[in-house]
Amino acid sequence: MVKELFLVDSYLKEVRATVISVKDGKYVTLDKTIFYAKGGGQPHDTGQIIRQGEVFNVVYVGKFSGEISHEVDHVGLQPGDIVCCFLNWERRYKLMRSHTAAHVLAALLNKGTGALITGNQLEEDHMRFDFSLEKFDRTILEEYLVRANELFGEDIEVRWYELPREEALKIPGVVKMAEASPPDLPVLRIVEIVGLDKQADGGTHVRNLREIGKVDLVKTENKGKNNRRIYFKLS
Ligand SMILES: [Zn+2]
Repeated sequence: MVKELFLVDSYLKEVRATVISVKDGKYVTLDKTIFYAKGGGQPHDTGQIIRQGEVFNVVYVGKFSGEISHEVDHVGLQPGDIVCCFLNWERRYKLMRSHTAAHVLAALLNKGTGALITGNQLEEDHMRFDFSLEKFDRTILEEYLVRANELFGEDIEVRWYELPREEALKIPGVVKMAEASPPDLPVLRIVEIVGLDKQADGGTHVRNLREIGKVDLVKTENKGKNNRRIYFKLS
């Protein structure tokens, strides 16, 4: 059974689950979850766990020793409790749109310049890229952004699926982002933007580039030799 439901269906906003364990009163594991745990450049989800009308706000979600731990704002949950989980969808959906947009931008930059993405951090209101590039010109960057925004107006499907590790690692550019250094697993999850990009990736994405809307350049910084930092945000 798939416990990390967001890996299969990133649009799942609520689910009934059973509390498996509670540590120090506030760190809860569930038999299955819709809450994304912080990692891979994507922030954790927030939301609510509700037991018979009592609301426990989910304030942090992390993965420890392979288990997703939900930190709630007060004690009271017990192993065996049947609960309803609700995602803060507004936050998650922005992160999904940003995450897919980041993959498109990274793919265009990588294809056009050969630059490798050395760091990538999404936030609710912006996304940040670090990449290595000797010659850096804001005009060129803006051209990539224009191209990306054109793609966000097109009906381009995004898919995710698993591949055996050996097969996955044969895909050119499958690990162009530092976040995606593939975990030591026999099977890798691939996020494919049809016709443009395939990445080993554990994040949540939109199903179609049309959902992204438009992305703007916020600012660029030089972080030393060959090291560039750029900030984007959803319009
Ligand atoms: Zn990613």
